[in-house]
Amino acid sequence: MKTNHSPWLHQLKKDRVSEILRSDIQTEVVIIGAGIAGMATAFFTLKNTDKKVVILERYKLAHGATGHNAGQVTSYFERGFTSIVEEFGLALASSAQKAIEDTWLLLDEIYTDIKSDIPFSRFIGHAGLSNKEQVLQHLKNNSLRRTAKLNIESMIISDTADFLDTIPNEYDGLYTLAPKEEIQSILEAKTTEFIAVLSYQKGCINSALFCQEILFYLEKKYPDRFSLYELTPISKILLRKNEVLLDAGHHTVAAEKIVLCTNGFEGFTIINDGGLEVNTRFHHMLSGTIGYMSGYLEAANKSPTAISYLLNAHKQPTDPYFYLTRRHYDYGDNVQYNLISVGGPDSALENHARYSHEHEYSDEMTKEIDRFVRHIYDIDPKKNIEYIFTWHGLMGYTKNKIRLIGPEPKNSVLLYNLGCNGIGILPSVYGGKRISEFLSGKKMEKSIFDIPVL
Ligand SMILES: Cc1cc2nc3c(=O)[nH]c(=O)nc-3n(C[C@H](O)[C@H](O)[C@H](O)COP(=O)(O)OP(=O)(O)OC[C@H]3O[C@@H](n4cnc5c(N)ncnc54)[C@H](O)[C@@H]3O)c2cc1C
Repeated sequence: MKTNHSPWLHQLKKDRVSEILRSDIQTEVVIIGAGIAGMATAFFTLKNTDKKVVILERYKLAHGATGHNAGQVTSYFERGFTSIVEEFGLALASSAQKAIEDTWLLLDEIYTDIKSDIPFSRFIGHAGLSNKEQVLQHLKNNSLRRTAKLNIESMIISDTADFLDTIPNEYDGLYTLAPKEEIQSILEAKTTEFIAVLSYQKGCINSALFCQEILFYLEKKYPDRFSLYELTPISKILLRKNEVLLDAGHHTVAAEKIVLCTNGFEGFTIINDGGLEVNTRFHHMLSGTIGYMSGYLEAANKSPTAISYLLNAHKQPTDPYFYLTRRHYDYGDNVQYNLISVGGPDSALENHARYSHEHEYSDEMTKEIDRFVRHIYDIDPKKNIEYIFTWHGLMGYTKNKIRLIGPEPKNSVLLYNLGCNGIGILPSVYGGKRISEFLSGKKMEKSIFDIPVL
C-alpha cells in the first residue's frame, strides 16, 4: 500500500506557520474552506467590496480537492452541453458555458494582481474518442454551441471510420477528416482504438500552490480586512435573520454572511433559526466520489499537454475516463522534469462514510493506472516506471453535476460556492467572482448555478 502523496502539496512551503483561532471573533463575511473556491471568493470579495473577510479551514490551506486534483484547467462541464441545454434551455446553458470560458480572464486577473510566477501553461488540449456514439454526442454538443454562437471545439474524425456516411448533414462544418495515424499522433497514443480527436483550449496549474500565492498576497494587501485561521473545524452553523454564529470548538465566530466553500463534505450541522429546514436539504444535495491519480517524472523534453482518453467502454458523458497531464515540474534538485500525471479510476463514498486524506492508496489503483499508461502512452514493456506520487482526493458531486453558487433561498445569510464535480478549478474561480457580486448587492441574472428551491 502507498500513502496519499500529492505532487501539488509537495511544492508548498513547508515552514509556513498556520494561524489558529484563539479568541471569539466578529467579521462581515466568513468563508468556510481554504481551497481554490475559498481563496478565489476571498480574493474577489476583498477586491470588489470593502468587507472584512475571515476564512476558517478545518485542516490546512489547499489540502482538500485543490491539493489532490489533476490540475487541468478546462472549461467543460462534467456533463455534455446537450444535456445542460435539455435541463436549462439554450440561453441559460450558453451563458453559463460562456461564463466559465471567460473565467480564463479571471484567472489571469488573479495571477497578474498577485504577481505570481508559478508555472501556468496554456495549450490546445485533446480528447480521444473511440466509438461512433461518443463522436455523435460531441458533434451534437458542438452543433448546439454553434447555434448559441459559442466557440466550437475542433474535431477530426478518421477518414476510414465506418459510419462517415451516417453522420447527419446538420453537422457539416463541425469536423474534418484525416488518417487515423494523425489522430493517434495528436493523442500521443500508441494504440489504434481512437477514431476521432476533439481539441480545445486547456491549461495546467498547481492549484494548491496558486492558493498559497493568493494567501501571501491577501495577507500583505489587506492586513486589516483579511485573516485565515487553519486547523479550525466548524461543527455548527446557526443562521439567524441577519447574522450567523459558528461553533469553532473553543470559540465562536459571528458574521453577517457565511460562504460555504467546503467542496461538499464538511461535518457540520446547519440550524436555520426560525426558518425552514436547511440542514437536511443541504446534505441531500451532495454525494461523494474519490478520484485516484498517479504520477511519474521523465525528462523535460516535451511540451505541456492535457489529454483525456474516452475508451470504448465509455458510453455516457458521465462515465469515467482516463486523463493525462504533462507539465514542467521542479522536484527539488534544481533539475526540471516533466511530471506525467494520470487519473481515471474512482470509487463512490458510501452514504455517511468519512473520507480522510490519510487513507492509504490501494495498489489496485496504481495497477489500473499503470495498465492504462502502458497501453496508451509509455508502452515500452521494459521501462521501469516509478510512480513517485500517488494521491486521492474527494469530489463533491451535486445531484445535477453543476456547481452551486449563490445564496440559500431559505436564508440568504448563507451562500454556497461548492460542489466540485470533478472539474472545478474554473468553476470555483467563477463562483468566487459571482459570490463577490452577490455580497456587493448587485442584482444578478438567473443562472444554472443558482441554488434550487426544493
Ligand atoms: C482526483 C481529482 C482530480 C481532479 N482533477 C481536476 C482537474 O483536472 N481540473 C479541474 O478543474 N478540477 C479537477 N478536480 C476538481 C477540483 O480539484 C475541485 O473542484 C476544486 O479543487 C474544488 O475546490 P474547493 O475549494 O471547492 O474544494 P476543496 O479544495 O476540497 O476545499 C474545501 C475545503 O473546505 C474545508 N472544510 C470542509 N469542511 C470544513 C469545516 N467543517 N470546517 C472548516 N473547513 C472545512 C476542507 O478542509 C477543504 O480544505 C479534481 C478533483 C479530484 C479529487
